[in-house]
Amino acid sequence: MIKRVVIVGGGLSGLVAGIHLVLRGCRVTVLEKKAYPFHRVCGEYVSNEVLPYLGSLGVDPFAWGAQRISDFELTSVNGKSAHMPLDLGGFGISRYTFDHALAHYAATLGVEIRENSEVERLAFRSGRFEIRTDRHELEAQVVVVAHGKRSKLDYQLTRAFVTRRSPYVGVKYHVRYPQPLERISLHNFRDGYCGISAVEGGIQNLCYLVHRDALRKQGDIPRLEQHVLARNPFLSDIFQNAEFVFSRPEVINEITFERKEPVLNHLLMIGDAAGMITPLCGNGMAMGIHAAKLACESILQWNGEEATRVAMEAHYRHQWNRAFALRLWSGRQIQRLFGAETPSNLAVALARNVSPVARFLMSKTHGQPFV
Ligand SMILES: Cc1cc2nc3c(=O)[nH]c(=O)nc-3n(C[C@H](O)[C@H](O)[C@H](O)COP(=O)(O)OP(=O)(O)OC[C@H]3O[C@@H](n4cnc5c(N)ncnc54)[C@H](O)[C@@H]3O)c2cc1C
Repeated sequence: MIKRVVIVGGGLSGLVAGIHLVLRGCRVTVLEKKAYPFHRVCGEYVSNEVLPYLGSLGVDPFAWGAQRISDFELTSVNGKSAHMPLDLGGFGISRYTFDHALAHYAATLGVEIRENSEVERLAFRSGRFEIRTDRHELEAQVVVVAHGKRSKLDYQLTRAFVTRRSPYVGVKYHVRYPQPLERISLHNFRDGYCGISAVEGGIQNLCYLVHRDALRKQGDIPRLEQHVLARNPFLSDIFQNAEFVFSRPEVINEITFERKEPVLNHLLMIGDAAGMITPLCGNGMAMGIHAAKLACESILQWNGEEATRVAMEAHYRHQWNRAFALRLWSGRQIQRLFGAETPSNLAVALARNVSPVARFLMSKTHGQPFV
């Protein structure tokens, strides 16, 4: 039975879900509030675990210029460093290129992509969803919500996490800097950490997460970088010698790693809308892509009869928890080792001297390849 599916949000997870469903015969519309291409705050390092599944959808990030990444460097607030190979590895590609190319590919397969369409209201009545954007009204049998970490819709859905302020701010640049292209570095500073790794075209992504109190105390981003980040000598060198491609950084706030629900009011949530992992684990994108796969499989297995909708939702909730609940918990624990002087020194000492422990921690930050 052909299902009419509307996907709210055309980021990585929404677009991948659209591609999966259209390839299996569904009628799919993706509603995206912005217009491609555009930059997002993201470290732009994707774990290799997604490659077999992306391949099964006909997606090859290397054809779009992705850079292979195989080597990891960790530095502490006081400037000590450790190197190790990445156990699974990954690739770097800017979201500007990746999301745009995915949207174009989805459209060629028959996904209807409506840009500049922000969903304002979702209602479920008599087995149908009514979807209202700032420009259209639509109906669908299934709605997949892929609107990212926080959206106006979360307020309409009265989700608990929106009532609490989130303590983190994310900042991103693209720079030219002579770091080996196959390396991802994670540099700690007081109250945060900063990653640098290559994307397409030999450009490096420089992206950090910082506690908002640290930013407030310094007053603005240049002072924060000068007085806090640059205390780590590796970051001091980057900020002094890199050539900055953007005239100003991309900045987001209200980043939360709180628990959320994968299913709410009959909506299937994927990606950051279902739960966000700490960027330290470098894996939000891989999780979003994996969640898209799980949601699509639950939708496709469903016979479309209203009486069995709840069983379909329970199936997705179960699959989501099995795949991610422990991983999100591990991410929150590992996050505690970073962004503070003593724990980050300890993490670097562990990586230098007790490599089995370091390898174990690393293995907890990503999933296994899936197809
Ligand atoms: C500082 C930082 C660094 C990170 N680094 C990495 C990294 O290196 N590797 C990694 O794997 N992950 C990283 N992440 C996490 C990663 O960016 C996210 O997990 C990923 O982008 C989630 O994808 P998504 O599709 O769920 O949401 P998004 O990519 O955020 O897409 C959501 C889309 O929905 C649209 N939208 C929102 N509301 C509406 C609406 N009402 N109607 C229509 N459209 C709407 C938005 O415009 C957006 O295009 C990082 C995150 C942060 C904050």
